[in-house]
Amino acid sequence: MEEYLAELNDAQRAPVLQVDGAMIVIAGAGSGKTRVLTYRIAYLMHKGVDSFNILSLTFTNKAAREMKKRIATIVGASEAKNLWMGTFHSIFAKILRFEADKLGYPSNFTIYDTQDSQRLIASIIKEMGLDKDIYKYKQVYSRISSYKNSLITVKAYFQNAELVEADAMAKRPRMGEIYQHYVDRCFKAGAMDFDDLLLKTNELLNRFPEVLAKYQNRFRYILVDEYQDTNHSQYLIVRALSDKFQNICVVGDDAQSIYAFRGANINNILNFQKDYDNVQQYRLEQNYRSTKNIVEAANSIIDKNKTKLDKVVWTANDPGPKIFVNRLLTDGDEGRYVASSIFENQMQHQLGNGNFAVLYRTNAQSRAIEDALRKRDIKYRIYGGLSFYQRKEIKDVLAYLRLIINPKDEEALKRVINYPARGIGGTTVDKLIVAANHYDRSIFEVIENLDRINLKINSGTKTRLENFMNMIKSFQIENQNSDAFVLSEIVAKKTGLLQELKKDGTPEGIARIENIEELLNGIRDFVEGQKEVADETGSLAEFLEDVALATDLDQDTGDDDRVALMTIHLAKGLEFPYVYIVGMEEDLFPSGMSMNTRSELEEERRLFYVALTRAETQAYLTYTQSRYRWGKLVDAEPSRFIEEIDDQYLEYITPVEGYRYKPLIDSDIFGEVDKSKLRLKKPVSGAPPLAHKPNEEQLRKLRKLRPVSDNTTNESKTNLFDEELIPGTAVEHMRFGLGKIIKIEGVGQDKKAEIHFEKGGIKKLLLRFAKLKII
Ligand code: ATP
Ligand code: MG
Repeated sequence: MEEYLAELNDAQRAPVLQVDGAMIVIAGAGSGKTRVLTYRIAYLMHKGVDSFNILSLTFTNKAAREMKKRIATIVGASEAKNLWMGTFHSIFAKILRFEADKLGYPSNFTIYDTQDSQRLIASIIKEMGLDKDIYKYKQVYSRISSYKNSLITVKAYFQNAELVEADAMAKRPRMGEIYQHYVDRCFKAGAMDFDDLLLKTNELLNRFPEVLAKYQNRFRYILVDEYQDTNHSQYLIVRALSDKFQNICVVGDDAQSIYAFRGANINNILNFQKDYDNVQQYRLEQNYRSTKNIVEAANSIIDKNKTKLDKVVWTANDPGPKIFVNRLLTDGDEGRYVASSIFENQMQHQLGNGNFAVLYRTNAQSRAIEDALRKRDIKYRIYGGLSFYQRKEIKDVLAYLRLIINPKDEEALKRVINYPARGIGGTTVDKLIVAANHYDRSIFEVIENLDRINLKINSGTKTRLENFMNMIKSFQIENQNSDAFVLSEIVAKKTGLLQELKKDGTPEGIARIENIEELLNGIRDFVEGQKEVADETGSLAEFLEDVALATDLDQDTGDDDRVALMTIHLAKGLEFPYVYIVGMEEDLFPSGMSMNTRSELEEERRLFYVALTRAETQAYLTYTQSRYRWGKLVDAEPSRFIEEIDDQYLEYITPVEGYRYKPLIDSDIFGEVDKSKLRLKKPVSGAPPLAHKPNEEQLRKLRKLRPVSDNTTNESKTNLFDEELIPGTAVEHMRFGLGKIIKIEGVGQDKKAEIHFEKGGIKKLLLRFAKLKII
């Protein structure tokens, strides 16, 4: 047997070894579904399948990169290089570029991000003279997005009396027209939005049998991760591509289907059997990720859902600590508790920031957590907020770059035609838009033809427009000889963007310049990376494609050690040793907007299942007594999901006199809680005994659990000893060996020493736990 196959259990090995045919792996969280896909690809390649013939679709590009890395260690880097792995959007954007001309698009089409799309819709609503309070652009955008994901084109929309009626009833009778304008404008701008990447792929495969045949023959083996969250449009693409050879392997967990609100369709899993011949079904039951307490608590949650497939999930991992439940007074206290608990765990177990994640239901909850982490000097990264590429100054630079590749790009052009200010006012731009609509051309084409059309603008404005056009054209010439990095530097300087920010001189302006520098560094890294790949050159077009589809997770290079803050939706598929789920309150989680029907509530419950199952070693649930919501302090009630967990898996943290988390001293905070549930938080006294001989994996987990020392109660001794520890003192640590104290900070329980260890470099240790010996 190949050596790597031994890293799978029997149940996991079966779908890996079945080379041909349709198969579905339905299994609970942490049971190795993603691992099966990874090893299956390696195995296919060992069996002689050309990497060129394999297509693997993942939930994030980061997940794809990680899988690729693992595969490279098995089959070799050069073999793995040509694998097509990535999100639906990134893979099909690539295919659409090859085939764009068939759909009447330029191959250098722009990809509009959500912000671009929403701006365009807002401007269409304005141009049509509609009431923006009735036609809210964000709502209109999400309607259009859902039409597209259900493959309802403009034509299909108008033929669908029910839809037309529904929009009319919602007082938006002109939805269809907006949709029509939006589609036309995108087309004229040579732009596709995110949903188009799927919609147009479907169109391509439907309308052009020869194109379909080409990709069917190419992608003989198709693999899809997180299949439970595919929407209709994605489903149809997979279906079409796999129809000929039917070598398709999908993995998923119905209990983790959490994107119904965006059109994900659980029926895709349920109907898989009917869609292909001789479907083999596999089940994985052993969870390798989490402790017994976490696995069993998660099982007890998902049991409450009526709509589900029956599944078993068990683990051989040790029981681990119970899930800590803590009630705080306010969100500020919640943040402080999380920060101090993270800090304490770090010190006690000698763990870096990257071992911790804080998960919440809504983005707005991150602020209190951030504040508290900052105060403690704990580095964190927020995922899913405004991503780097959406910052204004970055979007400005990118807009110029986009125009170089595709001058028709309307949103990019409107963004920078008068930034930095060059005397081209809003009225002029409006005239250009009207002319562009009239002649059915892009705005840039109108500027190119100013001499031939009668646009009422003065000669000064005309010259300024021509200067702008010539500047873009000069960049285009430069683009033929330079890579993306060189070109971007020229753009940042010649457009006057950097100059503008320097003039500003405020701290924000300086931060913006630094961001642009970071962007340029990123582009340089990208160019260097691309040049190592066979068919890539590091061109501007390649870079823009990469950026347009980058998600926040993709920016995470894993290089810097930070606590991860993100919504639960984003955490799907990830794992962390320590997970804090905050805001466990009714109306927040489950969300107040999702409690109307059983199916909505069940989706929230699945979301909680996803959250809890991200944790490897320890999970924390926190809730507050009152919380600011929509600017008002409202009473909060603990989430029903806490009660739904079998009590044996929970440990309620009780505040006692002198307890470190100060805000929790008032006993009436606990007035409504069943006192019998309140237990003291016990000091961690080492990992519980194992039922079996530990394997490698268990050892790894066990090591993580075992505290460096157990002297939590031995404070007086520590304190006396502390006095002797001053900068310059030579010390010995049981794990890090010999070192010298550089700095002492904090007092009492929080007293820390920064020590330069001969072997381990500089470390900050909490004296309470560090058990140092003076040499
Ligand atoms: P999710 O449903 O959350 O996406 P999953 O089913 O995809 O989870 P994986 O992420 O593949 O699960 O695996 C969970 C963890 O268990 C990973 O750290 C993985 O490396 C580990 N793991 C899986 N199978 C084994 C095994 N046979 N031996 C050791 N570790 C394993
Ligand atoms: Mg997975």
